[in-house]
Amino acid sequence: MTRIGVILCENRSLTCAGLNCLEAIAAHDEAFARYTDEIKIVGFTTCGGCPGNLAKKKAESMIKYSGAEKIHLSSCVFRSMPNPNEPLQDIETKLSQLPWTQFNRDDYVAELAKSVKSGQLPHVCPFREKIKKDIEMLGVEVIARTHGRLVEIERKSKE
Ligand code: SF4
Repeated sequence: MTRIGVILCENRSLTCAGLNCLEAIAAHDEAFARYTDEIKIVGFTTCGGCPGNLAKKKAESMIKYSGAEKIHLSSCVFRSMPNPNEPLQDIETKLSQLPWTQFNRDDYVAELAKSVKSGQLPHVCPFREKIKKDIEMLGVEVIARTHGRLVEIERKSKE
């Protein structure tokens, strides 16, 4: 049996209850098809919000107390919020209220603005590599994504 923890995008979780992740887990397919043995989800939680500083702590807890052997960063981390329909000014206001400790807020705003203005959405989490490295330092494999259904849904909506 493989014990797995899942970490989701906090922003995205405000409007997503995790159905696609849960379906992929239940069906043992998509990103979970890689496991040939039984899988047990020992944690299903969010990064704690930008810039994802709590992800490592949560992963540590899953490893230490629940025996997590693998951590998946959910697909929404790679197709992430903030909401592209939200005016950039509102997003900037929200960002200004966040506890920026390890990351440069201006770089994030610049990247986000570029993404929103160019229409090249969805936006991906700008902190994903840092989150991944932080968790890998705990000695577990970190797997990118949980499912590919957003891609499928988006493709179908354009058909
Ligand atoms: S964009 Fe990244 S750091 Fe921000 S809430 Fe989502 S996953 Fe966490």
